[in-house]
Amino acid sequence: MNKDSPKIAVIGAGIVGLTTAKLIQEELKKASVTLIAEKFHQETTSCVAAGIFRPGTSFRGATPEITKKWVNDSWHYWQEILKSSDAVDAGVMGFDSYIFSKDNYSVTRNHLIEDLVPTYRSVDEDELKLVGGNWKYGSYFSTLKTGCEKHLPWLEQIFKSRGGVIVNDKVDSFTSLSKYDLVLNCTGFGAKYLCNDYNLVPMRGQVVKVRAPWLKFAFYGDYDTYIIPGLDGVATLGGVRQYDSYNLAVCKHDTAAILERCYEMLPGLKKAEIVEQRVGLRPHRMPVRVEPEMVGGLKVVHCYGHGGYGVMCAPGTAMNAVELAVNLLKGNSRAHY
Ligand SMILES: Cc1cc2nc3c(=O)[nH]c(=O)nc-3n(C[C@H](O)[C@H](O)[C@H](O)COP(=O)(O)OP(=O)(O)OC[C@H]3O[C@@H](n4cnc5c(N)ncnc54)[C@H](O)[C@@H]3O)c2cc1C
Repeated sequence: MNKDSPKIAVIGAGIVGLTTAKLIQEELKKASVTLIAEKFHQETTSCVAAGIFRPGTSFRGATPEITKKWVNDSWHYWQEILKSSDAVDAGVMGFDSYIFSKDNYSVTRNHLIEDLVPTYRSVDEDELKLVGGNWKYGSYFSTLKTGCEKHLPWLEQIFKSRGGVIVNDKVDSFTSLSKYDLVLNCTGFGAKYLCNDYNLVPMRGQVVKVRAPWLKFAFYGDYDTYIIPGLDGVATLGGVRQYDSYNLAVCKHDTAAILERCYEMLPGLKKAEIVEQRVGLRPHRMPVRVEPEMVGGLKVVHCYGHGGYGVMCAPGTAMNAVELAVNLLKGNSRAHY
């Protein structure tokens, strides 16, 4: 290995792979970085996501401290983009959100972001009546979203402008990458096969995209109901969370259930044109895997298994993966053999 200009491969062109590729270029300016992926842009799970910044309270890394750092680092990363002239091109937009429940006040709270976002408060009686549904409990918080339909091409263009090389290929084993000094594995659900990782489980999701440019807030309700404003006036309505389901086809019963719940909350949505319906398999893993490993003599850093929170937490986990990669290249890491 040339110590000054290591050869690095990043596998995966979803939001985790492209963010990691951009950050490793920034950290190791002389490295030659190749990004290898089977699928790009609209074909990735990242492009199915609404991309809102709201972690589930069970989202977790190896320790509570690591989880919190991922969330905090991610928020500050997105804020930097949001404040910059790049925000529109990068597909990042800020807005506020309501979360309501009929059963339980605690589900409207979120210990991972309450001390982070500028506003997180309980709603008053009037706000409970803002939308249909006879809600008993609610909270209001500031958030943002990243639309991968714009964000992935934006990242890819930056990566290429810095000399990054993109290869469209499927990696069947790490052995085929032995010419690289280090590999960053950002394969999302693909890691199930590449790493024989039985802890990775598909959590099927389905969403309906509708044209609703008037929507300025996000709304959450019980049973995975959500209405999220989006880029170019296209909002995302959801959803479902089906554990261990591999079904990538749109299910008409899921569509009917999503629309019924969302229309009850916001009857105005009945007039919104349906633009498309998407299905994706969230790469669910407890904990998300960000760790180094020696695979047959090859230095590998894994960064996958973000479940339903991979868009919002891509930056924080990518920063962690890049730090591990730099240490591994220097020979300072405690990688598992
Ligand atoms: C309906 C739905 C709604 C969601 N909403 C949100 C949300 O609001 N907020 C949020 O933060 N997250 C959300 N998510 C979750 C989010 O989409 C995922 O966590 C995230 O996209 C994971 O990103 P990734 O880059 O790891 O995976 P992917 O986007 O799946 O990318 C994986 C990449 O790896 C490549 N790859 C895999 N295996 C191989 C291989 N062997 N060789 C070569 N290439 C390979 C693929 O081709 C692809 O390029 C949602 C998901 C769904 C399904």
